[in-house]
Amino acid sequence: MEKFASPIMVTQSTLPPFKEYCESISQIWDSHWLTNQGPLHEKFKKNAREYLKVENVSLFTNGHLALETAIKALNLKGEIITTPFSFASTTHAITNCGLKPVFCDIRSDNYTIDTNKIEDLITERTSAIIPVHVFGYPCDVRHIEEIAKKHKLSVIYDAAHVFGVRINNVGIGEFGDISMFSLHATKVFHSIEGGLLSYKNQDLEHKLDLLKNFGISGPETVECVGINAKMNEFQAAMGLLNLKSIEADIKSRGLITNIYRSLLSDVPGVHMTEDVQNVEHNFAYLPVLIDEAEYGMSRDNLFNILKEYNVFARKYFYPLISDFSCYKETYKNIDLPVAKYVSNRILTLPLYTSMEPAIAQNICEIIKAQIK
Ligand SMILES: *Cc1c(COP(=O)(O)O)cnc(C)c1O
Repeated sequence: MEKFASPIMVTQSTLPPFKEYCESISQIWDSHWLTNQGPLHEKFKKNAREYLKVENVSLFTNGHLALETAIKALNLKGEIITTPFSFASTTHAITNCGLKPVFCDIRSDNYTIDTNKIEDLITERTSAIIPVHVFGYPCDVRHIEEIAKKHKLSVIYDAAHVFGVRINNVGIGEFGDISMFSLHATKVFHSIEGGLLSYKNQDLEHKLDLLKNFGISGPETVECVGINAKMNEFQAAMGLLNLKSIEADIKSRGLITNIYRSLLSDVPGVHMTEDVQNVEHNFAYLPVLIDEAEYGMSRDNLFNILKEYNVFARKYFYPLISDFSCYKETYKNIDLPVAKYVSNRILTLPLYTSMEPAIAQNICEIIKAQIK
């Protein structure tokens, strides 16, 4: 195998035809309406709600501020049970709101929170669970719902990775009290930067609108302490165009995923996640777990060798959030054996909508060529 002529990154943002974007934003020059619930924002909100098959939607400038706003809207207090196997944002949202994260271990098959270990972590101070549908794989939503009901806890899903995923034809954003979708440029679906909350209780809408606009409810009234987290018209225009191609985009990602799966399935020590029956997947990421004893090489060595071939995989998610220097002295990071095992062996391979099948094939060949 030869080195790739240009770098292959772990992801590449999907873009609509340049002309279509220019045409779409030309109306902003006519109206001079750049942000604050403009017409493109309203249209995107409606179309995204229909596509996601959810009851209510609010749009934000990014996913992280959407998550913090969700925590504030539900008035959560005390301790929040969450997963350490995620992007920094999940725990940062909890601590930025002045709450204490309590880390729960994960499952070894799909890396989501291990629901059998949640109840042991519940105390009288626990107010909510914030699980993550990591890499696009749904958590055990039924079990989480059962636990939440029994202990009267709120549930906010970090749904940053699952835009378009459905369980038995039900939009994934229908589970829990609130779900947060990130619409960042690197995600399956994006609005440049952007965030979206979906929720069943329509009463939340007013509160979310207030919180994301400084708490302002009228020219002379400020009802609560809020922030600025509004989505602008340029973001909405990008979101609207990307919604047109989302089904085709997910299909392309599925084809690339199948190439990786078929070419790597017989490689000892390279373990992959599997699709789940009754779930419509979005093929957000391609995580592989490298077992050094079987494969003959560690994750870190394979990561470095891929780099020599111009392939930039990522160690998602390493280190665990509970091991970040800003958290490890403050919060308990023991009792996480599975999360630690996975984090030390996981590698996320390049996968994006416009990826040529030959690139995936060549990456698989490089991985196979390392077997001694
Ligand atoms: C991307 C991401 C976020 C944050 O979303 P932004 O839109 O980038 O603010 C939160 N959680 C997870 C798991 C993510 O991957």
